Amino acid sequence: MFPHTSDNGAQAHRRACAMLGFWQFLCLATGFVAASEWNQLGLALPSAEKWDRVRAKSDADVIIKKAFSTSTVYERLAYLTDTFGPRLSGSTALESALDWTKAQIEKDGIKVYEEPVKIPSWVRGREYATLLSPRTKDIRIAGLGGSISTPDGKPLVAKAFVVTSFDDLDKNSHQAKGRIVVFNVEFEGYGTTVDYRENAAGRAEKHGAVAVLVRSIAPYGLQTVHTGVMNEAGIPAAAITLEDAKRFERMQKRGQDVVIELYMEAHTLPDRLSRNLILEIPGSEKPEELVVIGGHMDSWDIADGAMDDGGGAFVSWEAIRLIHELGLKPKRTVRAVLFVNEENGSKGAIAYAKEHEHEANLTSIAIESDIGTFTPFGISVTCSKAAKAILTDLGQQLLSGIGSGNVSGTEYGEDVSYLYDQGVPAGSLQVLDFRVGNHDNNPCKGFGDGVSGGTDSSRSAYFWYHHTEADTVDKLDPEQLQHCAATMAVWTYSVANLDSLLPRD
Ligand SMILES: [Zn+2]
Repeated sequence: MFPHTSDNGAQAHRRACAMLGFWQFLCLATGFVAASEWNQLGLALPSAEKWDRVRAKSDADVIIKKAFSTSTVYERLAYLTDTFGPRLSGSTALESALDWTKAQIEKDGIKVYEEPVKIPSWVRGREYATLLSPRTKDIRIAGLGGSISTPDGKPLVAKAFVVTSFDDLDKNSHQAKGRIVVFNVEFEGYGTTVDYRENAAGRAEKHGAVAVLVRSIAPYGLQTVHTGVMNEAGIPAAAITLEDAKRFERMQKRGQDVVIELYMEAHTLPDRLSRNLILEIPGSEKPEELVVIGGHMDSWDIADGAMDDGGGAFVSWEAIRLIHELGLKPKRTVRAVLFVNEENGSKGAIAYAKEHEHEANLTSIAIESDIGTFTPFGISVTCSKAAKAILTDLGQQLLSGIGSGNVSGTEYGEDVSYLYDQGVPAGSLQVLDFRVGNHDNNPCKGFGDGVSGGTDSSRSAYFWYHHTEADTVDKLDPEQLQHCAATMAVWTYSVANLDSLLPRD
């Protein structure tokens, strides 16, 4: 994932919820926000002509009931992740996973088609690192996506130089030459600290470093290494555990020489042809107008990608399936896009936006699920005030009963960000931290503040697993997935049935 945002107010807002008791808060808050927003705007509350409330409520209730009566989405996600495993762009596994998914959608009787996308093909190859001094120890590494191999395909041995920031590196430039620069950077939230994963190699290369090892971008570690994309550089780069990064800094402070052997075969092959999968139910009255939802099918090569983002892709599919199964006829076309290549290039999202540019003015909203599929509490969205007020009203009327009707924040997913650039209101499904809710088998229950959402990356357990081998389907809960699918389906269907497209500024 890579969330876009222009406002962090929602997070503080959400933390305040906990004090009131979350469910009570939602009932109160959604009502309060709706009324105050409308008053602020000096607008009349949405009238009955805007949308048929009674009909919308009964349809939403039917969707919700149906969603909670079936565990299809979990079973399909478990099958996908167990059977095909990691689905890195360029891999055969991704293509097989797309073939299987498309065949299942066809079996559902839903219209599905492919749109070609050229995607990069980065290959990790074998890799290892060993601490040679002051003692011998294997170092867990995960080469960063886009990295090159160690020179001449041979192991590289060098003294490490540990820094804690780019400033630290710049001030001690002379010590970086010929060294493996280790970045032991405190996690200050994903959006902030990810700068180091992306740019450490390029920055250290300028100071004459021979390689970089970057502390995994995560709030917490259990010897886990988190890969992710990096910007092009002329030296190899890999992630190491929080534990090792801290250890190397302690060693350096004591005056001990930290000597490391690093071996990486990473390389990039020519681009490969892949595809976005698009499934839709054509609108009964305005088929040219759209509501778009989605998630991404690709994952990192070390992760099964259940959280990131098989869950998001599959709850989007399930949302369309629920509407289809119930025989509901949306006025506008409802469409789910299962994007490829979100992780290292966003070529799927870029291709979709380009191919559908003529529909930008006809797309009411685009909502992505890519920050985990735990207990949902609503959506965040960047759109006009008037559109936000309508969405707030819909959420309050149709989804507050299951706690997922909140509209707050301005985040939207990476894949829909290209539609946002074309003027489409863009949003993100918002979820509570996975430790909350009905996750009874969760050994971490009670850990931390227990309320943070998936987007509050300094606290969220989502980032314990993000881009690691531990992103497996056991972390997800069938009922939470059903809840996400119900929420996506109700937002999608109700917005598609409004009299007009959501208003823009
Ligand atoms: Zn993602």
